[in-house]
Amino acid sequence: MLSPKEKAQIRNVLEEEQKRLARKSENALNYSMNHERNIGRDSIDESMEEEIFSTEMRLHDREKFLLGKIAKQLVRLDADEIDVCEDCGEKISFRRLLARPVTTLCIDCKEQSEREEQATEQPGRAGAAFADLGEGDTETKIPAEE
Ligand SMILES: [Zn+2]
Repeated sequence: MLSPKEKAQIRNVLEEEQKRLARKSENALNYSMNHERNIGRDSIDESMEEEIFSTEMRLHDREKFLLGKIAKQLVRLDADEIDVCEDCGEKISFRRLLARPVTTLCIDCKEQSEREEQATEQPGRAGAAFADLGEGDTETKIPAEE
């Protein structure tokens, strides 16, 4: 089990990220509303507009997905379960949680599931980045500080 200090630290990281994502999706929403108002129907190609819209929706989905994960982690944190692997019940290290606050798997289970993903997925497939949301090494990593 995590110490109260470690729990507070993880909570802080999760809540900061929650705020950041909420702000981001708010901005995206404002943007599309202004966009509707400012650009006349005739001045923009309809398919282009659809493309912009679907890109925004994808971003929005990603934020919603991450916000859902964060909400779930806060529940796990309150239940003193955040450092318990969902798959095997082993302990997830504090260091791993701090680096990947939305992870629910220990490193062994994560590596196992990544191997399985690699075996079934084609490289470069459009949905591949999405499948690894919140667990990736690059863009989905939640920074400890901002
Ligand atoms: Zn595990």
